[in-house]
Amino acid sequence: MTRALVVRSDACLLHVPGAEIWVGVRTPGTEVAERATRIETALRDVGHRVVDADTHDDDVLLRVHDPRLVEHLRTVYARWVAAGFPDDPGQDRVVPYLIPSAGMLDGLPEREPTAVHAAAGRWCYDTMTLVGPGTWEAARGAIDVTLTAVDAVVAGEPLAYALARPPGHHVTRAAYGGSCYLNNAAVAAQALRDAGHDRVAVVDIDAHHGNGTQVVFYDRADVFYGSLHVDPGAGWFPHYAGFADETGRGDAVGTNRNEPLAEGTGDDGWLVALDRIASAVESFGASALVVSLGVDAALDDPESPLRVSHDGYEAAGRRLSAMRVPTVAVQEGGYHLDTLGSLVAATLRGLASS
Ligand SMILES: [Zn+2]
Repeated sequence: MTRALVVRSDACLLHVPGAEIWVGVRTPGTEVAERATRIETALRDVGHRVVDADTHDDDVLLRVHDPRLVEHLRTVYARWVAAGFPDDPGQDRVVPYLIPSAGMLDGLPEREPTAVHAAAGRWCYDTMTLVGPGTWEAARGAIDVTLTAVDAVVAGEPLAYALARPPGHHVTRAAYGGSCYLNNAAVAAQALRDAGHDRVAVVDIDAHHGNGTQVVFYDRADVFYGSLHVDPGAGWFPHYAGFADETGRGDAVGTNRNEPLAEGTGDDGWLVALDRIASAVESFGASALVVSLGVDAALDDPESPLRVSHDGYEAAGRRLSAMRVPTVAVQEGGYHLDTLGSLVAATLRGLASS
């Protein structure tokens, strides 16, 4: 069996969400560091080559994201501590209390709020994605992991897997949320473009729509985004994006493809949707592929109602490998600790099959 190159970093373990605030209630965070250690153990057990990430500069990152978002993430926790919030009122994570919606501003100029408790909502769109002491280091480490995987593929490796944590596909150009801080998959796609691939495709098999990646490339005809995910219209995150009629804008119409799926969809329906996306990618003519590899569509996962099996994930990997283009797989969601390692291993087994 062909082995994948696996890229990892200790930095990715430094983010401790501490909590999520859902409908005002503080609940334990689910995007925990043990996710990454479980996956790494499973991949070492089946013999994949594992390497540590190299350090990269901010060049690609700053072309995907608004530099002010990046600067905010780099500094906001220190500002939060300096303002005394861990002691009074006793909040040890950066949590928004006011998120300036388009309707609130109604065309008024954007302003940078002075107070850190207001700045907390300037770049974040939900209350689930808290910033703590190691969050920046982990998110930035995930970018290094991703770019190291891209380097390997550009150097001739057919398949590299970025064990990126925290995940990234919910981050738009200028707003983070959904347990994501920086968009690893979007950075991978941009880096592959920069390396000379004229057309790059991102195929997102996470259970949730990657609204961030969609937005980053929505106006661009050079990057295709395709996603299969639980139907946001049935009441699932990200609620406002991921519908079938979102196909791209301007010159990019036709380069965005969403396949929303009914609750309870299992292998058959999921793989049929993947096949439609894969065919669209082949028509698009991508010369490199990024896979947003979320394994939360699995039967046992607590975060989605999809019911995909290990065999389903392996079959998805096989379908994508049939495109025979250099591939960077980037870890997204997956929250059932006892199975997520074997699910990632199954997908890589499929991806490495041709
Ligand atoms: Zn997800």
